[in-house]
Amino acid sequence: MKVYVDKPLCTGCQHCKDVCPVAVFEMKDRSKPDEVNTDTAPDNMKWTGESNPQVLAKWKDVNDGHKHFAEANDGTSGGISVGVNGEACILCQACLIQCEGECIHIIDDTNAEYKSIYA
Ligand code: SF4
Ligand code: SF4
Repeated sequence: MKVYVDKPLCTGCQHCKDVCPVAVFEMKDRSKPDEVNTDTAPDNMKWTGESNPQVLAKWKDVNDGHKHFAEANDGTSGGISVGVNGEACILCQACLIQCEGECIHIIDDTNAEYKSIYA
């Protein structure tokens, strides 16, 4: 399985890391693009330091106990999510329904693609 995050859409809420049973995701510092851009995301979904304006406007002031768009992770949220261990994914889809940025992509061995939809 390939698992990658569309980085400009990621709020850093950490929901994906919290729900994944097989530790696919790690939260990386937004100031270190070399560490953030280590998954299989295509070039237009890599981190260049700019969040998507729509997702920024939607989530920046939401106070739900999770940091949004914080540079670094404090153990609860913040930073930016990277699919560092996509091979372990069992396609339970937990991350796909928890991703508030709707930015997780999973591609299986038949090339079928699954995307997150936030309910
Ligand atoms: S679908 Fe894969 S990456 Fe997402 S939570 Fe489940 S095992 Fe983890
Ligand atoms: S759940 Fe989505 S928006 Fe939140 S940190 Fe993970 S990839 Fe980013």
